[in-house]
This record gives sequence, C-alpha cells and structure tokens, in this order.
Amino acid sequence: AKPIVAVVGRPNVGKSTLFNKLIGQRLAIVEDTPGVTRDRIFGDCEWQNHTFLLVDTGGIEMGEDDIQTHIRHQAQLAIDAAECIIMVVDLRAGVTAQDQDIANQLMRSGKPVVLAVNKVDRIGEPPMELYDFYSLGLGELYPISSVHGHGTGDLLDAVCEHL
Ligand code: GDP
Ligand code: MG
Repeated sequence: AKPIVAVVGRPNVGKSTLFNKLIGQRLAIVEDTPGVTRDRIFGDCEWQNHTFLLVDTGGIEMGEDDIQTHIRHQAQLAIDAAECIIMVVDLRAGVTAQDQDIANQLMRSGKPVVLAVNKVDRIGEPPMELYDFYSLGLGELYPISSVHGHGTGDLLDAVCEHL
C-alpha cells in the first residue's frame, strides 16, 4: 500500500493550498473562512522515487460543536494512518497557542513530523519571525510559499526521508 502523508494544522494556515500545489490539481477547497474543509481529501503525490497518498485533514479545531468535533476526529484518523505528518503553520500569524496544542498532539503520536512554515512568499533573507517556530519543539523547519511553490521541494525531500 502507498504510504500516507497527512497535512495537519489549524484553520487558515494554507493546508489546502499546499495540498493542491503538491498534487498539482485543485481538489481541496481553499477558503478564507476557517475550517471550510469538512472531510479528508486524498491525492497522489510523486517525488523523486516515492509515491505517496497525501491527505488534507481539514484542520484541527478546538471548538465543541458537531462539525468541529467531526473534523478533529477525521484529522486524528489521518494522523493514525500516516507514515509522516506535515504540520503547517502561518508565518504571518506567528506562533499561536493552537499551534502548540497541535504540535504537542503530534509529538504524542510518535510519528515523524515535518514542520512547514507557510506564507514565506518572498525569496531571499528569511524574516526573523521564522525562527520563532522552533519554539514548537518539532525540530527543523521548512519555509514555504504554498501559493508560489517556493520551498516545497526541500519540504518533500524531508518528507521522503521518512517513507
Ligand atoms: P486551510 O484552512 O489551512 O486549508 O487554508 P487554505 O489553504 O484554505 O488557505 C487559507 C488562506 O491563506 C487563503 O486565503 C489562501 O489563499 C491563503 N494562503 C495559503 N497559502 C498561502 C501562501 O503561501 N502565501 C499567502 N500569501 N497566502 C496563502
Ligand atoms: Mg482547508
């Protein structure tokens, strides 16, 4: 069976944009409204000599209503099934408490996590804010722009090391 790679993170960080970029199609719904991806969406991804199934988990929200509980459950199922997890955070928003909650949950899962700091749109000297994300405790970070595609090659290289 193809290994599964789950894209995880709080709403609006750019998970679906990254998913679409990596599979080269627009399957996931990109929305300015947080939490709009209601179910897991799968797509094949090929990189170097690897083929894997990428899953857009739709976000882990901490709310208590039925939809949020459902999304959280779906995300947990994807994490359980995954060989490797891409955690996405948003440079512009900075490190949030919800990011830290998710990072902690992922570390408890024991799965390899590759941290993608999204919305680093400008090429060149990385902004100082980038380094704040080391505080999540997930190790190496990969600056990317899901809109432009910058940095996604290095990110995929890191993912493939775990497959
Ligand atoms: P999700 O909720 O995590 O799936 O986030 P979406 O993929 O729906 O994106 C949320 C918003 O962030 C949308 O307005 C996207 O266009 C925007 N966005 C996503 N990636 C980037 C990026 O690399 N740079 C910029 N500037 N905006 C981005
Ligand atoms: Mg989404």
